Amino acid sequence: MKVLVFIEQRDGKIKSSAHEALTVGTKLAGSPDNLAAVLIGSGAAALAPQLAGWGANIIFTADSADLALYNIQSYANGVDAAIKAFTPDVVLGVASPMGRDLFPRLAARFDASILTDLTSIEASGSGITGTKPMYSGKCIADVASAGAKITFATVRQNVFPANKAGSGTATSTPVTAAAGDGKIRTIEIRKGKSAKPDLTEASVIISGGRAMGNSDNFKILTECADVIGATVGASRAAVDSGYASHDMQVGQTGKTVNPNLYIACGISGSIQHMAGMRTSKVIVAVNTDKDAPIFGIASYGIVGDLFQVVPLLTARFKALLK
Ligand SMILES: Cc1cc2nc3c(=O)[nH]c(=O)nc-3n(C[C@H](O)[C@H](O)[C@H](O)COP(=O)(O)OP(=O)(O)OC[C@H]3O[C@@H](n4cnc5c(N)ncnc54)[C@H](O)[C@@H]3O)c2cc1C
Repeated sequence: MKVLVFIEQRDGKIKSSAHEALTVGTKLAGSPDNLAAVLIGSGAAALAPQLAGWGANIIFTADSADLALYNIQSYANGVDAAIKAFTPDVVLGVASPMGRDLFPRLAARFDASILTDLTSIEASGSGITGTKPMYSGKCIADVASAGAKITFATVRQNVFPANKAGSGTATSTPVTAAAGDGKIRTIEIRKGKSAKPDLTEASVIISGGRAMGNSDNFKILTECADVIGATVGASRAAVDSGYASHDMQVGQTGKTVNPNLYIACGISGSIQHMAGMRTSKVIVAVNTDKDAPIFGIASYGIVGDLFQVVPLLTARFKALLK
């Protein structure tokens, strides 16, 4: 089947999750001629060679200064142009905030099937089948595209490996992303303050809950995070109490994360929090209450006061990583 992968980039840097989507695309497409990618943004053409060896022969690039800031209309027009040039069976992206914004619009525009947030994916005729978590991760649904000429699909971040295919010439092929009609304009994109990887891309996360007590106390998590290269997250109770900023919130109304290691400190494990982190590969919970629901999904549980346990963990990590 022919697969077109949307490559997400920010500030001239290709997102690591784009490599995960390309790895999935390589498997579905079966050959570099059947796999193409589309890169949109100011400086996109210069980024295309970085995708050499990632399985695609053609990288469609919509490159202009007007595309410096993500805008749903112009970006959809860029992907649209690549679809018309390549005529794929499947258009693949990542279930990131950008993918969640862009893909439904494209699917509506092409009157197509859309499968979102997939945690497994297989080719099935000219469409796809897969699985996706539903109801805050309480069940897994089997889903399949049906009937439409083209299928749009997004995969969950950090679920699929990113393996370089070793094939694919990544030849840059310009397409034009027509300007939007001006009804939706992007004026500014405000970045979070942290220099650490965003929670959605982090492979290690240490999060604090209501038990942190105040924003100053988050320092003990930051100190631990600095030692193990983690990003600091928070529960909604911590955010609502003003201890942490909203971009740190993990959960149903925050970010969905899928790190290799998630350390939950003073977080009870509400359904809404677990909805955002339960697929983490290893979960460590620190809680004074041995009956806290978080222990139900934790790989390792420490019943104890986080203000004692976290500094001990930090000291131990420091010694181990010296
Ligand atoms: C529509 C909706 C959407 C929501 N979305 C989200 C979301 O996206 N993310 C989210 O997190 N929540 C969300 N919530 C809120 C959610 O229901 C919980 O209220 C929230 O997750 C609780 O946060 P918490 O675990 O930090 O606090 P609590 O539930 O109060 O838990 C605090 C925990 O800390 C433990 N503790 C206390 N002192 C210590 C100590 N010294 N050391 C160790 N442990 C200690 C306690 O035993 C307790 O288990 C949502 C709720 C609704 C209704």
